[in-house]
Amino acid sequence: MKVAVLALQGAFIEHEQMLQSLGVETFQVRQLLDWQQHKDALIIPGGESTTQMRLLQTSGLLHPVRQAILRGLPVFGTCAGLILLAKQEDGQPRSGLCTLDIDVHRNAYGRQLGSFHATGNVAGIATDFPMTFIRAPYVRRTLSPDVEILSEADGRIVAVRQGRQLATAFHPELTADTRLHQYFIETV
Ligand code: GLN
Repeated sequence: MKVAVLALQGAFIEHEQMLQSLGVETFQVRQLLDWQQHKDALIIPGGESTTQMRLLQTSGLLHPVRQAILRGLPVFGTCAGLILLAKQEDGQPRSGLCTLDIDVHRNAYGRQLGSFHATGNVAGIATDFPMTFIRAPYVRRTLSPDVEILSEADGRIVAVRQGRQLATAFHPELTADTRLHQYFIETV
């Protein structure tokens, strides 16, 4: 199995390290040439969604990545990755990858609560999962019955799945807990 990790910006190395610790081969995607390699799944890391979006556009990756996800390539987006997958932001259409039927709110927790840790259950995947939030978004609402809510923190949706798309508002790659990555790999 080979997993592509979008490496335009953000915490992509941590995802690679976690996958490699699970014995999964990874490669970084920065340009179209990288993208042309065979891949069984894609990871979109946390970071800054506006920067990643700009780089997706200028690199020419936006359209092929979107098409691949729509055709069923399994994808796991964390934090900024969740934002890039979302179809709406604050009730308005987003210009991102727009493959996931959710409405997000960005930088949801204000300045003082910019970063925090919580522990929560991820339905059917993990109990007492450590969640690291860094200027995180949350999911305001789901836009399709196909979207399954996997986790809530403080009454806010923070993890969802829709078909082969998995997205979390928190950063599982920044903890030592590999259960979500393990789950993602198993579904691939
Ligand atoms: N606040 C960032 C954004 O809007 C996301 C933060 C993160 O990925 N840790 O893109």
